[in-house]
Amino acid sequence: MRISIICTGTELLKGTTVNTNLAFIGQELSEAGLVPIRALVVGDSLEDLRQALESVVADSDIIITTGGLGPTRDDLTRDVVCDFLNLKLHRDSEIEADLSRRWAKRYSTSPNEDYLLQANVPESSIVLKNNIGTAPGLWIKGATKVILLPGPPNELNPMFQNEAMPLLKKLVGKACFTASFMIASISELVVQEKIEALFEGLPVSLAYCSSIEGVKVFFSGENEDLIKEKAEDAKKLFGDAVLADNRLSLVQEVSERLRGQGYTLGTAESCTGGMIAAAITDLPGSSQIFSGSIISYSNAVKTKLLGVPQEVLDTYGAVSAECVSAMVLGVAKALDADAAIAVSGIAGPDGGTEEKPVGLIYIAALLHDKVIVEKHIFSGNRESIRNRAKVKALLMLRELLLKK
Ligand code: AMP
Ligand code: MG
Repeated sequence: MRISIICTGTELLKGTTVNTNLAFIGQELSEAGLVPIRALVVGDSLEDLRQALESVVADSDIIITTGGLGPTRDDLTRDVVCDFLNLKLHRDSEIEADLSRRWAKRYSTSPNEDYLLQANVPESSIVLKNNIGTAPGLWIKGATKVILLPGPPNELNPMFQNEAMPLLKKLVGKACFTASFMIASISELVVQEKIEALFEGLPVSLAYCSSIEGVKVFFSGENEDLIKEKAEDAKKLFGDAVLADNRLSLVQEVSERLRGQGYTLGTAESCTGGMIAAAITDLPGSSQIFSGSIISYSNAVKTKLLGVPQEVLDTYGAVSAECVSAMVLGVAKALDADAAIAVSGIAGPDGGTEEKPVGLIYIAALLHDKVIVEKHIFSGNRESIRNRAKVKALLMLRELLLKK
């Protein structure tokens, strides 16, 4: 199945909007074993969209477009695609009534004609419901199927998952089974080297996705038993480094481990400024495991709220193993938490010295009476240094939880 994606929107080319739709569709498709063959991005231009369609139609079974279905002048996709495929548009009365209802609810008037253009549906098409916004998506039948999706990610995501994916899977016919897991703190090359031998000659597609947290591995194929069995074999190669329950997010897995043990966590964050707390509280239900965080940016907060001795700061400085050790004990005590994390470092770009360069981070993790402290020198810009510190801190806490 050859799938091409065309994302429309001048804002995507200017870089004012990040093309998250492409990433989302790519992920959803690959998890179903349908890796697209190409993606194009075009501005809101009739001619450029037409050319893009022309350039992919001959060798695509499916073309997916995103954006340009709304009621404004720069929303051209529906018209251009129909013109390109020589399809007539007709007004769908059900969609029109729904649009009018939505409009009246908001503005207490009748909608104008531009707005109602969203109810225009091409012949030989299936309407993909939009439960969030106004513009419905479209699945146009034919030798090359064309799937038109709206631009706003909160509309596109559910529509793609609930409306388009089931049709795509039906079209593919063959069952596609998938399995995935994540290995913490490892390089993609190491994973590949270990895993590939296991799958040589087998009808299983492998895909990797690497990040600072580790490597996600995806398996897909038609034989469910084979996928399951081989994914389990692959997991065994990496022992405890594999996140439990096939989770694909480190913070989620660590949170579940805390929850499973009935433990609470507190954080004392200097250079990460609450990023660890934010990551944990991003997850629903975090109140059960998260006590709180003390953003101990200044030395005064370190001494007053965390009880870091002034001598520690005077002798070793705020960026030191001694300081994070005192911070982690202090926050566990202050917040009465079973587990704690403390981070202090120099995220840059300024503030580095020869002795304490930018990127130098000390991290402490605590679980009851066990404390581990690590020194790291992370490379990259401020954002990347802080992110690495966050991930490393979670990995250290995970290490303590694993030993439990
Ligand atoms: P449109 O469907 O062209 O009316 O798009 C509406 C809004 O959706 C745009 O202003 C963007 O903010 C957003 N959007 C469109 N395409 C994308 C995309 N590929 N990725 C993320 N957001 C998008
Ligand atoms: Mg647009």
